[in-house]
Amino acid sequence: MSMHAESPVGPGRRRLLRVVLTGTAALGAGLVAGSPRTPDAPVTGGPGRVRPATPRTALVELEAGNARWRTLHERHPDETRIVRQTLVGGQHPFAVVLGCVDSRVPPELVFDQGLGDLLTVRSAGEVLDEAVLGSIAYGVLELGIPLVVVLGHQSCGAVGAAVRAAGGGAPLPGHMQYLVDQIHPAIDRTLRGAARIDAAITANVRLVRARLAAEPELAAKVAAGDLAIVGARYELTSQQVRRIH
Ligand SMILES: [Zn+2]
Repeated sequence: MSMHAESPVGPGRRRLLRVVLTGTAALGAGLVAGSPRTPDAPVTGGPGRVRPATPRTALVELEAGNARWRTLHERHPDETRIVRQTLVGGQHPFAVVLGCVDSRVPPELVFDQGLGDLLTVRSAGEVLDEAVLGSIAYGVLELGIPLVVVLGHQSCGAVGAAVRAAGGGAPLPGHMQYLVDQIHPAIDRTLRGAARIDAAITANVRLVRARLAAEPELAAKVAAGDLAIVGARYELTSQQVRRIH
């Protein structure tokens, strides 16, 4: 594939990153243990934003964006006319987010990012198939993205359906049985009711993350320190993204 193109990097985004890295507001545990969160930091987005180039700086940027989102301090960065024009020349996103199709969890919103920032792949229950794997590989191997986030979420309907289907009944119609089959190994039958679904949401994130980490090309990047593949969960109640280890 040859869709990769460089985008300009300037001092503005370096300033943004420095602000993110040196901020002091603490709002509770999130994606990066001990990282600063700066929902009140000045707006410095735009085509000059420095792209996080390492797994950790990418995580810090997502953490800061989620802190803005959950405290209603969104900046909606990288949407201006000049950003749109700059991006005609190519994209240089800094994170892959594999999330659910759920309308309540759009990655660009919950991480307060804009155009050219995230490569998003979405499937119900963030399940994998060849197209999803190929899309993630494109982001990592072709675009050189240093971070993949597998993002599950509270009250996931796909996981709920998989848990109910595992209790018996006819196969789901219209290809939905594929989703159920993929999520099935994440179900803990020792749990009951809502607790079983909630635990399966977290276990499914771990399952998908582990499958990605087992992909040889991605594993080589991780071993070299050029890539992190992390699991996370978005809570509808608090709007916070928490890391799942
Ligand atoms: Zn979902």
